[in-house]
Amino acid sequence: MEFKSFLIKYAEIGVKGKNRYRFEDALITQMKYALAPVGEFEIRKESGRIFADALEEYDYDEAVDALRRVFGISGICPIVVEEEKDFDHIQKVVCDYVEERYEDLTFTFKVQVRRADKRYPMKSMEVAALLGEKLLERFEPQGLHVDVHQPDVMLTVEIRDMVYIYSDEIPGPGGMPVGTGGKAMLLLSGGIDSPVAGYMISKRGVRIEATYFHAPPYTSERAKQKVVDLAKQIARYTGPITLHVVNFTDIQMAIYEKCPHDELTIIMRRYMMKIAEHFARESGCLALVTGESIGQVASQTMQSLYVTNEVCEMPVFRPCIGMDKQDIISISEKIGTYETSILPYEDCCTIFVAKHPVTKPRLDVIQKSEKKLADCIDELMQTALETEEVIRIQAH
Ligand code: ATP
Ligand code: MG
Repeated sequence: MEFKSFLIKYAEIGVKGKNRYRFEDALITQMKYALAPVGEFEIRKESGRIFADALEEYDYDEAVDALRRVFGISGICPIVVEEEKDFDHIQKVVCDYVEERYEDLTFTFKVQVRRADKRYPMKSMEVAALLGEKLLERFEPQGLHVDVHQPDVMLTVEIRDMVYIYSDEIPGPGGMPVGTGGKAMLLLSGGIDSPVAGYMISKRGVRIEATYFHAPPYTSERAKQKVVDLAKQIARYTGPITLHVVNFTDIQMAIYEKCPHDELTIIMRRYMMKIAEHFARESGCLALVTGESIGQVASQTMQSLYVTNEVCEMPVFRPCIGMDKQDIISISEKIGTYETSILPYEDCCTIFVAKHPVTKPRLDVIQKSEKKLADCIDELMQTALETEEVIRIQAH
């Protein structure tokens, strides 16, 4: 069966009054972005409902996949739309719909009618009862039965400006539309965790930018490309991402030369946070986001997180903080980043890493070690900020 339209359902909690328009408009923008590569669709808002109408031939599965990546959608209903509202016509279309949609008719159903057009000459209950009768007349011999309490199929008919008929609701991703919750800066590495963190924060409606630190020639062009690819993959959910690529080599070298080697990672991470926060502030972000999870590695013990966090003035959100690695992996598989994340390219963190990094750093000790960078760090930071490369990432 071919559908030309979708009815989009969204959770209405917190979407009252003025917020409702912001929510709907952001949802529509994201739907347009997701559907752009699928084909031409008109997306329209009509009395508390959003519809997507195909204006040309399109691939149904691709359209559903695209809509399933739009945060804020709770359900996707493929619908039949009819302009003619005359009851005889409706009952014919409904019967044809059931026949075409279901090969096997041995199930129970209930008809539910909503009549938004109050000028319509029949009441909802009356239309529902009559439609039920007509369906039984035609399909009871093939096994169709009514069950008003727990039907296998709920057939919904909405009489509005036009008549809308549907019986399927494909679950959407839930969450809030990107763009309703401000903007945050994701520290995006080539690993498994940070793409998942970006996905999770944007699921709450937050738009993201990203910062990636590389260390050429110690990290390769391939390693950078891997991060660009990951950003592209999460952009399918988040919308376009501005990616800041920062050359971190000289800062890392300076730390390596001047600071105790077991403190390298933690000091490095403090400078990463400072730089990311600089770009975050410049572009109006209100928080930083990382893929950290307590206890995963030495730099993510409570003590390490405390010391890393100390340089930040903005809130730092860590959506993976309480998750086991396996849970994070499951999400990365679901969102399609896993295969890219496990490609074995070098990361700037791993190149200068010490054999036995401190697992319980003390803030005063780390701050003392950082003093050894006093004569060069300001200039190095300045250069790193000035030489950033900005890449605009589009999902397609
Ligand atoms: P991931 O799987 O996200 O790489 P990880 O387990 O490898 O995480 P770390 O290397 O300790 O953990 O990094 C912790 C967090 O710091 C990452 O999730 C990411 O947010 C940030 N980060 C680490 N390396 C980089 C980098 N090269 N560029 C940008 N952010 C980074
Ligand atoms: Mg990493």
